[in-house]
Amino acid sequence: MATSDIWAHFRQNYFMADRLPEYRQLLMTILERGYRFMPMADFARLVRGRNPPEGRVALLRIDVDSDPRGAARMFEVERELGIRSTYYLRLSTIDRQLIAAMTQHGTEVGYHFEEASTLARRRGIGNAADVERCRDILREHFRKNVTLFGKRAGVTPRTVAAHGDFLNRKLGISNNFFIDDALLDELGVVAEAYQKWLVSRVSARIADRPPPRKWQPQPPEEVLKSSPAALSLVIHPRQWVRSPSANARADLHRVWAETEYRLKRLRAGRSG
Ligand SMILES: [Zn+2]
Repeated sequence: MATSDIWAHFRQNYFMADRLPEYRQLLMTILERGYRFMPMADFARLVRGRNPPEGRVALLRIDVDSDPRGAARMFEVERELGIRSTYYLRLSTIDRQLIAAMTQHGTEVGYHFEEASTLARRRGIGNAADVERCRDILREHFRKNVTLFGKRAGVTPRTVAAHGDFLNRKLGISNNFFIDDALLDELGVVAEAYQKWLVSRVSARIADRPPPRKWQPQPPEEVLKSSPAALSLVIHPRQWVRSPSANARADLHRVWAETEYRLKRLRAGRSG
């Protein structure tokens, strides 16, 4: 990280003002443009049944990487506006009470999975091919974790979305490489958010980024100019809600994860 990046990261972690009014405004603008917000599972089911939704559809997806409390405040804004979205939670960010409120509102709660990067870290795996060789083990871990997620969360996930870890970027392999329809069908899961058949039905996709950039590849006001039929927004609470303690925990966790991986790599190097 460059010094300016570290400073920007620090500033965002501890001094950023909540951007919830901006979030509300964004959602209201999308509503005013005639969009209907739809949970991912509903959209996926329609696409899979070859009956894609009519009119403009907005798929609002929130990846809860580190901060369920921030997610709760974003959900509050959506509930007030009568919007139904999709929250993807990791096993480490499950908040049962929040999930119950979301489900009651009709918001979807799915599983944000990371078996491949977890295995790579624990075993100190140094390249993508060695992760690929663990395909069957990873499918087994995924089966167990979907069940575990259901038990802890109190809802069975209908869709899942791969989390992106630093190790995915380092090794050049994504967390969903071992997923296919057969595995998902077996578990009653309609879709993985990055599956081609699903992504190909999305007309425009934008994701939030840390300020000052804010959006990738374009800001919503630019994208809305062309009125895409199916608009996907990928959002992270960290970029919208000030939460110094959750951010500090996430940073520490990241340092620990990198240290654990380096130690395992050293050990793997010695034994092989
Ligand atoms: Zn994630």
